[in-house]
Amino acid sequence: MSAIIIDGKAIAAKVNAETAAETEKLVREKGVRPGLAVILAGEDPASQVYVSRKVKMCGELGIDSRKILLPADVSQDTLLGIIRDLNNDPAIHGILVQSPAPKQISEQAVVRAIDPRKDVDCFHPENVGKVFLGDLSGFLPCTPWGISVLLAESGISTAGKHAVILGRSAIVGRPMAALLLAKGAGGDATVTICHSRTKDLASFTRQADIVIAALGIPRFLKADMIREGAVVVDVGINRIPAPETKTGSRLVGDVDYEPVAEKAGAITPVPGGVGPMTIAMLMKNTLRAVRMAEQD
Ligand code: NAD
Repeated sequence: MSAIIIDGKAIAAKVNAETAAETEKLVREKGVRPGLAVILAGEDPASQVYVSRKVKMCGELGIDSRKILLPADVSQDTLLGIIRDLNNDPAIHGILVQSPAPKQISEQAVVRAIDPRKDVDCFHPENVGKVFLGDLSGFLPCTPWGISVLLAESGISTAGKHAVILGRSAIVGRPMAALLLAKGAGGDATVTICHSRTKDLASFTRQADIVIAALGIPRFLKADMIREGAVVVDVGINRIPAPETKTGSRLVGDVDYEPVAEKAGAITPVPGGVGPMTIAMLMKNTLRAVRMAEQD
């Protein structure tokens, strides 16, 4: 058996086309153009790439963006002051601070300083709490939401399925569990979260109908760890040395792709799987932010 390859690029393009159409309608009917502020402190090359992609996508979809670049030694007070100004700026509907923040900055302080109605990353405890209580009407966590859309668009129901998540981070593993546990479409799953202290992890993944790998360890999930026909979602983005390529490195996921694809029922590739969905869902959250500003 060979797995269905879930095409994240194509599904993200469809989501983005909907966002562009909704944005255009919002401008035409209400004269409101969504605005996203993206703050980057420091010069981490990967963060610079992520920020450029987000800003570029805003431009493609008709969303205004404001890129705020700060030096690596920016003080927490300065950053919090900038966030406060953006909270009060009616042209800005969404605010995100690219992580990782420099070490003198508390990421928790930053997250809590953002007005929950502008928290398009869905990191504020108020928004996270809503999601964990099963209220999906507000912002949704971008990467997990993107995974839910990938599954839905591929005709994969989660209801009654056993989903095993590898990784318990606040950005991926935990909020993924919340979405899968929620009642209704995209939820109703039985969820297991495995992490670095889990004993005999393969005994869980072998029972899974759906495995979501989000650990950040290149090719961690091997074919003998899944059952025949399982759905495998690879969240990992790992750069590994590849002397045969021009750049000397290449991207791999957390799944040992080729052998797992032979055995799985469906699989997301890296790149071109979960990655494009994360930005697409961020753009959708920015549209939701306009709706939230209207509710004031
Ligand atoms: P993280 O480092 O915050 O968390 C990793 C998790 O994996 C931890 O909870 C840890 O307990 C668990 N873990 C580590 N070693 C383990 C082991 N041996 N066995 C079981 N569990 C183990 O990472 P994160 O932010 O959740 O990201 C995970 C991966 O997903 C990274 O490669 C990251 O680059 C990628 N990522 C991709 C996207 C995307 O849009 N595609 C978004 C976010 C993160």
